[in-house]
Amino acid sequence: MTEDFIQFVRDYYKSPDELIPLHAPVFRGKEIEYVTDTIRSTFVSSVGAYVDRFEVMMKSITGAKYAIATVNGTAALHIALHSLGVGSGDEVITQALSFIATANAIRYTGADPVFIDIDSDSMSLSPMALLAFLESECEFKDRIVTNKRTGKRIKAIVPMHTFGNPGRIEEICKVANQFRLDLVEDSAESLGSYVNGKHTGSFGRLGVFSFNGNKTVTCGGGGAVVTDDENLGKRLKHITTTAKVPHPWEYSHDELGFNYRMPNLNAALACAQLEQLDDFLNEKRSLSMKYLDFFENTKVTFKKEIKNSVSNYWLNTIEFQSKSDRDKFLAETNGAKVMTRPAWNPLNTLPMYQNCVSGSLKNTNHIADRLANIPSGVKWKE
Ligand SMILES: *Cc1c(COP(=O)(O)O)cnc(C)c1O
Repeated sequence: MTEDFIQFVRDYYKSPDELIPLHAPVFRGKEIEYVTDTIRSTFVSSVGAYVDRFEVMMKSITGAKYAIATVNGTAALHIALHSLGVGSGDEVITQALSFIATANAIRYTGADPVFIDIDSDSMSLSPMALLAFLESECEFKDRIVTNKRTGKRIKAIVPMHTFGNPGRIEEICKVANQFRLDLVEDSAESLGSYVNGKHTGSFGRLGVFSFNGNKTVTCGGGGAVVTDDENLGKRLKHITTTAKVPHPWEYSHDELGFNYRMPNLNAALACAQLEQLDDFLNEKRSLSMKYLDFFENTKVTFKKEIKNSVSNYWLNTIEFQSKSDRDKFLAETNGAKVMTRPAWNPLNTLPMYQNCVSGSLKNTNHIADRLANIPSGVKWKE
């Protein structure tokens, strides 16, 4: 199987011997034109027309009323949690199967992450496990949820749409509403992914996106927060731009602000990339369907989008029957210069998060041992 797979990938990318990356950026649109434009105009920094244009594009793509450009996705997550008042002594529920940024952003506010299991099909936070944890391990009184084990207040839930495959966000929303917890979607990986026709990131109070170099579209580094809440939208714009009170020459700041604004230089790149989003998504989906066929009669399962959802298939994912099969595949493919990789080490195993509360992480551990991401980017040559 592995040899056929290597050949399949090399044929698809029309690349007989070069390194095949997992997901490399491709610039086929107006990237050079727009970036050059910012340099000619001298507006390369934190103000400029492309920042505004990027925010308008993000509103239109996600359907959210407000979009705030940020310097990266991690900063977007941090500021989202900060804007909801998450802080020292609080806890925030998330999943252990995620990129480090999810837990780090929680910790930056002074709060601690609590790790709850995922569903094995969606690979994202399990609404059942979430509900079970809140019902059995927490106390809900006067609209406040307290973790009985730590005595700390649980403030928010941060589910993540893993590898672009949407999780059961409608069910998670219901649980969040039932316990009056704020929902922040880490949609960093799921630009172009939908649940029942609604864009991921637009279900929670706030949704967060990333435009890092390895994501579906990139602007070098960048992020965005989206929301329908007018107060939050305006406040986020304010505190991501140092909380400066607008004035033609005076410098005054009315609260603790952050320099989290996306530079115009990056926004120019983002605009050019977003113009190609539909093309990228179509091309990625067609590769995913080819993978689905390829793995059909093998011992490996291709992780498909769950019912009523559309995945952007950011990183195509396969699941092996055992860790040893998976590890052999990783060694052989990488040895043949076809990049593949395991999921992140579950966050609860890392030194900074070892002492955090977690539920049963049965599905997390099972999947983390058996999954591999395979090359997923759009073609870089014709
Ligand atoms: C990429 C990513 C982020 C944000 O990363 P940045 O590199 O800071 O843009 C956050 N969460 C997840 C799950 C990610 O994959």
